[in-house]
Amino acid sequence: MKNIRRTVRFAGIAALLLTTVASTASPPSPSAVELAQKGDDPAWAITEGLTTEVGPRQAATDAEAAARRWALTRLTQMGFQNVREEPFMMQTWVRGDEEASLIGPFQPQKLHIAALGNSASTGTKGIDGDIVYFASYDALVAAPDAAVKGKIVFIDHQMKAAQDGSGYGQYGRARFTGPNVAAKKGAIATVIRSIGTDNHRVPHTGGTNFDAGVKPIPAGALSNPDADQLVRQWQRTQATGAASGANPAPLRMKLLLTPRNLGQQRSGNVIAEVSGSDPAASPVIIACHLDSWDLGTGAIDDAAGCGIITAAAKHVMTAGQPRRTIRLLWAGAEEVGVFGGKAYFDAHGKEKHAVAMESDFGADRVWRVDFKLPDSAKALSDRIALAVAPFGVTRGAHPAGGGADVGALIEAGTPAIDLQQDGTRYFDLHHTPDDTLDKVDPVQLRQNVVAWTATLAILANSSDAELP
Ligand code: ZN
Ligand code: ZN
Repeated sequence: MKNIRRTVRFAGIAALLLTTVASTASPPSPSAVELAQKGDDPAWAITEGLTTEVGPRQAATDAEAAARRWALTRLTQMGFQNVREEPFMMQTWVRGDEEASLIGPFQPQKLHIAALGNSASTGTKGIDGDIVYFASYDALVAAPDAAVKGKIVFIDHQMKAAQDGSGYGQYGRARFTGPNVAAKKGAIATVIRSIGTDNHRVPHTGGTNFDAGVKPIPAGALSNPDADQLVRQWQRTQATGAASGANPAPLRMKLLLTPRNLGQQRSGNVIAEVSGSDPAASPVIIACHLDSWDLGTGAIDDAAGCGIITAAAKHVMTAGQPRRTIRLLWAGAEEVGVFGGKAYFDAHGKEKHAVAMESDFGADRVWRVDFKLPDSAKALSDRIALAVAPFGVTRGAHPAGGGADVGALIEAGTPAIDLQQDGTRYFDLHHTPDDTLDKVDPVQLRQNVVAWTATLAILANSSDAELP
């Protein structure tokens, strides 16, 4: 925030000087960045409004349909053009009851668990089983089938916090495909340590995927303190077994997960535009996702992202019609398999997009800008890096990766820019009941909007020579 205040002050001094030099000129209309710094904050209004009036909004449920109606109304009210819904059908999974207990050899006790998306049901009576412990996803992959068959697999391996969130790919494998690996080896269920960096008693949900032909098994995540408890009990059973020279007494779990598959249900992308003055210029696409997991109210994932991109587009629009069209994609279904991004690509993948950007990493400040642009856009990237530097954003050394909802576009060759957010506390909250509005810091949210506005104003007004 220090940086923003300093910049505002400099801007004030510069404005004063200008007025002194040319006191007869009419006052200049505010730039998009000035609007983002000093004007009202549509990012907060959207984040607060969506989480308060709709709340949890799992894709292809009634709640997500309500979120779409909310988005269409809000984007129209804000003055965007071509506001519309592009519906699609998708396979839909919903949570049921969920309970887990350690039932032996120690005193039975309950654990806090959340089913993973696409988990199978245990049935309403639940299942009992012996736990087999794996220190990591790799250890499970390396295990012989005989060690796993008929057991409840537990995968440990605690994720550590990092500013760039880089642990998610590595630790996340336990969730993305751990249950699939366990199912192939004959496990009856999989329970993982949450892919999260907190030590609160809140499990982190998220999608898991089974290969075609693999029968899904029940799969859930324990909160970190509950995983710690399981590990301590596991270590005791092993130590007791080793001391007595006998086989260790099995660590037993009772598990009840009753999610359901609802088959093909309707979701949809919400699209809005700032119409550019040059109809021949390719548009800039900026994305977020409208759906959220069901446990929290989806404030940091990803109401804030929709707030940030929309506020930036609004400020650019208010400052004057840009040359290029800015297209906003509020994707209807990201969490459960990027169905929204796929539907957008199916409908629009053949159109040329000048550049794609996404905000889907919480609401904490932007600290780095990454580019993946054609060589001819070097001057443009220098200009953007310079424009965001006053707000504490430094230039990264690696190419931009874009976000999930524009992933297919980028894979097909669309250039990308990432305004990387500070992810140090993102995975404390990610996909938990704790993803709620109070976790959004309005000061950092506004810094996001300022950095986005500075970037978007340049992109939307760039020439074809600068950005082909
Ligand atoms: Zn997200
Ligand atoms: Zn998410």
